Amino acid sequence: MPARPLDDLGDPGVVILGAPFDWGASYRPGARFGPKAIRDAGYLGFDGYRPHLPTGIDALGVLGVVDAGDLNLPVGYIEQSLDHIADAVEGVCRHGSIPIVLGGDHAITFPNARAVAAVHGDIALVHFDAHADTGDQSASGMPLSHGTPMRRLIESGAVAGHRFVQIGLRGYWPGPETVTWMQEQGMRSYLMRDIGERGLRAVVDEAVDYATDGADAVFLSVDIDVVDPSMAPGTGTPEPGGLTSRELLDTLRRLARELNIVGADVVEVAPAYDGPGETTALLANRVVLDILNGMAERRLGVAGDNLP
Ligand code: MN
Ligand code: MN
Repeated sequence: MPARPLDDLGDPGVVILGAPFDWGASYRPGARFGPKAIRDAGYLGFDGYRPHLPTGIDALGVLGVVDAGDLNLPVGYIEQSLDHIADAVEGVCRHGSIPIVLGGDHAITFPNARAVAAVHGDIALVHFDAHADTGDQSASGMPLSHGTPMRRLIESGAVAGHRFVQIGLRGYWPGPETVTWMQEQGMRSYLMRDIGERGLRAVVDEAVDYATDGADAVFLSVDIDVVDPSMAPGTGTPEPGGLTSRELLDTLRRLARELNIVGADVVEVAPAYDGPGETTALLANRVVLDILNGMAERRLGVAGDNLP
């Protein structure tokens, strides 16, 4: 369980959990130190008051945000760790709070979104990533890895394929067989090429419509490698040609304002590879804050500024 038991947290609107897990990584490990780096990047401290300059909204106060600390996960034991994450996240949802999990590698989204769906039913999943994460197995033949969570979510029935929207895909993975499988499931995947040709705003407009058609609850999964490695080098599988930090932050805040977010995660921050100045950890910290701010704007019924 989290360092702080739920019963001691009062009645928070949002509970932040750290999942220091990287034994699902296929290439560079180190995301187990992501939660600590993301928290340390909040150099203003976590004192429960953080007004957002463009809106003046203090999301931490408006939502009632509590950081419950890190989960105690058994290093090297994938299934036990993921089950533990699922139990903790389901507990947060049943408590009536919205979980935001700090990864950890992307394998954690399988238990995280599964647990949210167990409580909220038919959810849509909006997924920012350079990679589709729809592999059938890892390069070493493992079913649970950071390359497979979206396939496990669909195969397990937790999230329907046509409820998936992916934004930011690029590079050289996965292969045609997997892409065909994704299309058969009804997944909607927007490549960086699409964003370049059509513009981010048009793509996000369409993504919102697609994801929410018939589903009123949304899970938001943000792999920090959706951002270009020049702005987010501290990650396990960097892929050139991504979004800018600004594009990601503005888009996430918009989505959190327009959609009913019932769970989220921010994954793949691996501080050992970060640039000088902790660029990636800082970005991930602000990703969390901007998601919270969008949620607070939604709660208050405030019209947004600065739409991407
Ligand atoms: Mn990923
Ligand atoms: Mn990725």
